[in-house]
Amino acid sequence: MGEALTDRLDRAIAAREHDLVTLTRDLIRIPTLNPPGDNYREICEFLERRLGASGFACEFVRAFDTPGDSDRYPRWNLIARRDGPRPGPCVHFNSHIDVVEVGQGWTTDPFGGELKDGRVYGRGSCDMKGGLAASIIAAEAFLEVCPDHAGAVEISATADEESGGFGGVAYLAEKGWFNPERVQHVIIPEPLNKDHICLGHRGVWWAEIETRGEIAHGSMPFLGDCAVRHMGAVISAMEADLFPALARKRTAMPVIPPGARQSTLNINSVHGGQAEPGDGYTGLPSPVVPDSCRMVIDRRFLIEESIEDVEAEISGLLEGLRATRPDFDYSLRELHRVLPTMTDRDAPVVATVARAILQVFGHEPHYVVSPGTYDQKHIDRIGKLKNCIAYGPGILELAHKPDEYVGVADMLDSARVMGRGLIDLLGNG
Ligand SMILES: [Zn+2]
Repeated sequence: MGEALTDRLDRAIAAREHDLVTLTRDLIRIPTLNPPGDNYREICEFLERRLGASGFACEFVRAFDTPGDSDRYPRWNLIARRDGPRPGPCVHFNSHIDVVEVGQGWTTDPFGGELKDGRVYGRGSCDMKGGLAASIIAAEAFLEVCPDHAGAVEISATADEESGGFGGVAYLAEKGWFNPERVQHVIIPEPLNKDHICLGHRGVWWAEIETRGEIAHGSMPFLGDCAVRHMGAVISAMEADLFPALARKRTAMPVIPPGARQSTLNINSVHGGQAEPGDGYTGLPSPVVPDSCRMVIDRRFLIEESIEDVEAEISGLLEGLRATRPDFDYSLRELHRVLPTMTDRDAPVVATVARAILQVFGHEPHYVVSPGTYDQKHIDRIGKLKNCIAYGPGILELAHKPDEYVGVADMLDSARVMGRGLIDLLGNG
């Protein structure tokens, strides 16, 4: 990486500060709420105009028949590619275009893109339109200083990350867009802080446990069998044995925050007996012994654990109750699974971004792993592409909060890191 080239890159990025801020604000002003999946086509068309003018060939891909896709809310994705004049690898920046609901507590307009004290405010500013904008500025500055680069730069803008990524990266991966023959390096500019490299995420196992009883009149509960009491026994067993056992399982994954460096289980919901009365219903409930109780659990597991062990832990607990508790009957149903993933620290894209962070900030990167999953899961599992990280500006703790913002200086700094990554991978030879 020549000294002069990185100096020119830095100048090209600094000259684009106003452009970066405007681009970020423009992206925030297209409200891409998910659910339901608003304005995906609009934001893709906006990006096509922008990237097309910068020499990218753009393709629109609708993820037909994925969850949420309809003619009213089509799941549009954009893939923009700029091939250099010489062969070489493809470096791909993947950003999700969807944002979560606004929620309460805002003091700024969530879709106004207000600029105040060096911060751009709005829903999705941090997660992750600021990262998308930074990657576009980095790519455009790189193309200015390295017009005869090797290989290709790709930028994708994808749908539905916040709801699982099925209409976005998962769909594209299934259609071959992330095949290792066409894409070699992937950077996902999620807000993990500008001097952090996120190597991957913990695993997820969602399941539903149902306990069963027998319906009877509430005045004679001894004539029935209360499914909620059986579920109480499940929760007691979890409290006595499972939660302490999970807390003892520690991981070598550098998960942030450190509280997530162990196995965790969230009881997502418990529903037993009569449904909640609808709004406006003023009557009393009727006296019935509940014959069914359902619990959804959200188990996050470590790279040191197998999903078979995770399942066996729960079914073992339930079988233990069946053996000891009279009339205990249950079913267990998996809802969703994602295996943990962690890219090697010596993978090429990690080494490249680490060198760039060292150059820009003067210290080694912090290597981290996300407690929850993001689209890397699909690139790894469906795309079979391991050379993938999350790296981008923004403070993770601000994601999904009121008055979400991204710092302009942070976007500029991470654009310098991304641009150096492009020079390192595509600028030489
Ligand atoms: Zn995100």
